[in-house]
Amino acid sequence: MNTFSETKTIELCLKKYYGYTDFKEGQRLAIESIINRKDTLILMPTGGGKSICYQIPALLFSGVTLVISPLISLMKDQVDTLRDMGIEATYINSALDEVEMSDRYEGIQAQRYKMIYIAPERIESRLIRDIIRYNTIDFIAIDEAHCVSQWGHDFRPSYRNIANILNKLPYRPVIAALTATATELVRDDIMDQLALYEPEVFVTGFDRKNLHFSVLKGVNKKRYIGQYVKKNSESSGIIYCGTRKETEMLYHALERMHIAVGMYHGGMSMDERRRHQERFIYDDYKVMVATNAFGMGIDKSNVRYVIHHNMPENIESYYQEAGRAGRDGEKSACILLYGPGDQKLRRFLIEETPDISPERKKYRFAQLQKMVNYCHINTCLRVQLLGHFGEASSEEMCDGCGNCDGKAHRVDITTESQKIISCILRMKERYGVSIVAEVLKGSKSKKVSGTPLESLSTYGILREYTLIQIKEMIHLLIAEGYLHMTQDGYPVIKVTQEAESILYGNKKVYSNRIEIVAIESSDQLFD
Ligand code: ADP
Repeated sequence: MNTFSETKTIELCLKKYYGYTDFKEGQRLAIESIINRKDTLILMPTGGGKSICYQIPALLFSGVTLVISPLISLMKDQVDTLRDMGIEATYINSALDEVEMSDRYEGIQAQRYKMIYIAPERIESRLIRDIIRYNTIDFIAIDEAHCVSQWGHDFRPSYRNIANILNKLPYRPVIAALTATATELVRDDIMDQLALYEPEVFVTGFDRKNLHFSVLKGVNKKRYIGQYVKKNSESSGIIYCGTRKETEMLYHALERMHIAVGMYHGGMSMDERRRHQERFIYDDYKVMVATNAFGMGIDKSNVRYVIHHNMPENIESYYQEAGRAGRDGEKSACILLYGPGDQKLRRFLIEETPDISPERKKYRFAQLQKMVNYCHINTCLRVQLLGHFGEASSEEMCDGCGNCDGKAHRVDITTESQKIISCILRMKERYGVSIVAEVLKGSKSKKVSGTPLESLSTYGILREYTLIQIKEMIHLLIAEGYLHMTQDGYPVIKVTQEAESILYGNKKVYSNRIEIVAIESSDQLFD
């Protein structure tokens, strides 16, 4: 139970230091849990207001708070902001020179700091020993806590050290782990790896009501982006590409269209990256074309759209990247442009990961399949996304996604689905999407022609459709759970128990066809 004065103090802090009168969803409960000295796991989306959740307790504890954060660029900003607010804070990371480091040591000895931000690779025993020699560590906040889990999308081995260091402390401070991205598996792993003691878990605010989610299939991606950016030339946007090469191509194409565009990927020098990032943050560049190297820790509030030129590897990465739109609460768009090549690219990148364990590989393939399912599902995209984060949505339909806003055109594909399922059964469930689609199409390709597949009764029963359309329908049936794609070795489609209801005519299947407006090729650059 919190006393009246405790509650009042929290509120006073919020007002005095941050100038806010109300807490955002979930903040108050998380803060109360920490100041009641409970280990706490906080799952809040990007922009949800995690910093305040650990900064207010840090202000209220009498001793010092350590904040472990992997984001070196963000660390300096946060510390500068805290100092502007009159709070003594500092940071320790590998970017400091000797003079700066000894200045920090002096500050530690003089008990000058209320908050010390530390990069995970610097959290070694000696440093911590020095800190506790002169200070009491009341509280440790671990930001981006999913980095501790190998099931997270951004595993950092240096995070594994944290638990060892904690174990060596002569006393146990309160620990809070914070992340924007965590499925149940990652969540459990964070609690295990950091050895949190009976933690209070808060999952809040994943629903970003101001974001409109949509998936577009079958569009000419480059042309669509060119048109979209021109049409929204007053707005800031981020376009994520799957590879550095594609990032460069799109960047140059937009530049040729005289769009103020920046670029960001891991192959650029630090200086170049910083320059492009700053110009984007200060609105000199309206658009940023980037790989997923861009954005972690970027607090730009007026991003009006995030377009994914390629599908990311998993829903967590997608939600985090898309979530960089609309941090100011204004209506913003998150558009995923799906092409069949995306899945191949992602599979390839997983296959090519060096030293990946078979277990980890299987897990990543399963996560990839969930992402592919998201691209093909007909039901509410928001429900699908929130379900992934363990946050139930009260609604079956929203008005803020491409599947619910009434713009999609609903088509009954029950008969087509029956034909697809029968064909897979006749093919003895031994083939992948491409070959099944070719058989249904009645293809004359080498893989099918002249083989026993050609004499199946289902050969060519969907010949009126294009191969792409047939594959789309197969993916839809996978996404809806009627078919299943194996994750070991070569992916093969199997028919699930649920498919029976379609075969026996007890259940209907619908496809959402979003009308793609033919765009005049005014812009030859994108051809
Ligand atoms: P996160 O770390 O979860 O991405 P931040 O802590 O950076 O989010 O907060 C996101 C934005 O929300 C910041 O601009 C912050 O000032 C603002 N914010 C946080 N808490 C509140 C609040 N209670 N009222 C209004 N704005 C808030």
